[in-house]
Amino acid sequence: MLLPTQDIAGLCAHWHRIDESLLSDTGVELWLYCPTTTEPMISGNKWMKLQYHIKLIQQQQYRGLVTFGGAFSNHLAASAAAAQLNGFDATAYVRADVIDRQNPTLQYCLTKGMTLIATDRQTYRQRQQPDFLKMLALRHPGCLIIPEGGSSELGARGVAGLNLTDTPAGPADVIATATASGGTLAGLIAASTQQSAVSSNSAKVLGLTVVNDLSLPEKVANLLAEQAVDAACWRIVATAPDQRYAKCPAEHVNFCCEFTLKHNIAVEPVYTGRALFKLYKMIAAGEFAQGSRISFFHTGGLQGLAGLYYRQLITQQQYQILSAAAVG
Ligand SMILES: *Cc1c(COP(=O)(O)O)cnc(C)c1O
Repeated sequence: MLLPTQDIAGLCAHWHRIDESLLSDTGVELWLYCPTTTEPMISGNKWMKLQYHIKLIQQQQYRGLVTFGGAFSNHLAASAAAAQLNGFDATAYVRADVIDRQNPTLQYCLTKGMTLIATDRQTYRQRQQPDFLKMLALRHPGCLIIPEGGSSELGARGVAGLNLTDTPAGPADVIATATASGGTLAGLIAASTQQSAVSSNSAKVLGLTVVNDLSLPEKVANLLAEQAVDAACWRIVATAPDQRYAKCPAEHVNFCCEFTLKHNIAVEPVYTGRALFKLYKMIAAGEFAQGSRISFFHTGGLQGLAGLYYRQLITQQQYQILSAAAVG
């Protein structure tokens, strides 16, 4: 099912109902919400989080953007593509000692014309500090500085424009997403709160976190500071006991391959596959009442697969399986 989403350039949202014996046995309905854009490798939440940043750059007639990310960052890939598409400059401070031109993500960013600056860990750690940001503003005059992952208030607002509540089968009881810096989760909470104000339906929002970050609930709450949100309407659950970011345990990679082969929808083991793996465990454990309808946000991230293979975190065969399927 294809629903063009207004106001977001080139975005179409596809809904897929997932058919599994786990779901029929437990009486739980699972829908995947898969946004795609004209640029398949960067479809997902990062594209949405950039939308209002791009509008601000255009309104204020900024020269370009400056942002931050790891060497395989989905946000950097999306920022580079967005900047080229809209005709402005992009500079990224990359958490890396050197810019490896063989790294597929950085290579992609370079082909999109992004300027990459290798940044040691100690400097990178200052990325949210006011003094460091002031220095960057002087160094890059006329540029909008976008935080890591695009998770500013504007970023959350971009995600809040999505409607994950109304599945083709009716309103969702639970809206689930992978979460890391919290911008996406904050956006979905805001959207769901607005939705419940206009209809009696109020979905609970579930963030499946892929990182060890005790400050995540606070970050999400800060992004929602302007909104009247019921704290009982959302929660955060860890996807694994050992949350080392971008480590790909075999069980997650295997799950991704099985899921991709079965449903012909690609998922990756850093975010979406990992979150779905945990969601399946929760469903199997009976955490959702019979008759529950879950709407899961496919946040994209597929550009990262080439980087996982490049670092040999997945095998060639796994890479082929995961990269052959559709985005959504
Ligand atoms: C960045 C990312 C997330 C997490 O989004 P946050 O807004 O940082 O919490 C989830 N899935 C994918 C594929 C991502 O790239």
